Amino acid sequence: LHRLRGRLSRSQNAVGRSLLGLLGGGDLDEDSWEEVEDTLLVADLGSAATGEIVATLREQMAVRNVRSESEARALLREVLIDQLTPSFDRSIRALPHGDRPSVLLVVGVNGTGKTTTTGKLARVLVADGRRVVLGAADTFRAAAADQLQTWAERVGADVVRGKEGADPAAVAFDAVSRGIADGVDCVLVDTAGRLHTKTGLMDELGKVKRVIEKKAPVDDVLLVLDATIGQNGLAQARVFAQVVDITGVVLTKLDGTAKGGIVFQVQRELGVPVKLVGLGEGADDLAPFDPAAFVDALLG
Ligand code: GDP
Repeated sequence: LHRLRGRLSRSQNAVGRSLLGLLGGGDLDEDSWEEVEDTLLVADLGSAATGEIVATLREQMAVRNVRSESEARALLREVLIDQLTPSFDRSIRALPHGDRPSVLLVVGVNGTGKTTTTGKLARVLVADGRRVVLGAADTFRAAAADQLQTWAERVGADVVRGKEGADPAAVAFDAVSRGIADGVDCVLVDTAGRLHTKTGLMDELGKVKRVIEKKAPVDDVLLVLDATIGQNGLAQARVFAQVVDITGVVLTKLDGTAKGGIVFQVQRELGVPVKLVGLGEGADDLAPFDPAAFVDALLG
């Protein structure tokens, strides 16, 4: 929580501050309510969540006769946390199942932080005592496989990679096979994300998943989204959701944006939880997403 607050404070809690400034005195006129609405929209919460939040605030401000900033903060906190579906299961399904490892697929557009996230996640799992195999199924960019290999060496995981241009599904299959043969706990498969050929991507990702499933079920499909690109991230999410059943979202670069409100939209639109957030480029800059901690950071 402390880290999240530190990382987000500079940019994000401007949103919280202006909301509390508007709500803190109670008795808002129409202009002020419009400002509340604009603040939420500018922070990327989207019109649906914004509409609901404003309606609930308007009602509850009156019902509870909110007059002070501390009362406003308590109400705002409650309403925002509620919007973030606190009941979602946000656990990473990285526990082995009897004689086979868990299998996690990491998908997303190039540049969103997919490989970095795979490396950071491997680090968390290894630090937790798990044995991990990384699969470098982005075979189109040698640099991507190199980058994953560097992470593997750094965190103490094994890596399976193919030759440049190898079939991504074959590499994914090999990684899972290796994981089973070696009796490891978890296989993380990093995939390619060239969105400019949409059908190509769909075919390829679908195939990767199908081929893996000849060996073992896929436990988690994590979609990596860059928080700094706002609405475009949402458009990407829609495309991926058509190809594979996403089970969770990793929102990266939350340290670099004042628009963390995209969390609200992503969950609402995809119906899946944000499970992890990226808070920097370093190996330890990956954190579980905790709605209450996030809202507290937002409110400063
Ligand atoms: P990929 O193409 O999706 O695999 O993306 P990479 O993992 O190569 O990451 C792209 C860039 O984003 C790199 O410079 C990363 O260091 C950076 N990056 C990844 N995650 C984060 C994050 O949470 N915060 C910040 N500030 N940078 C990040």
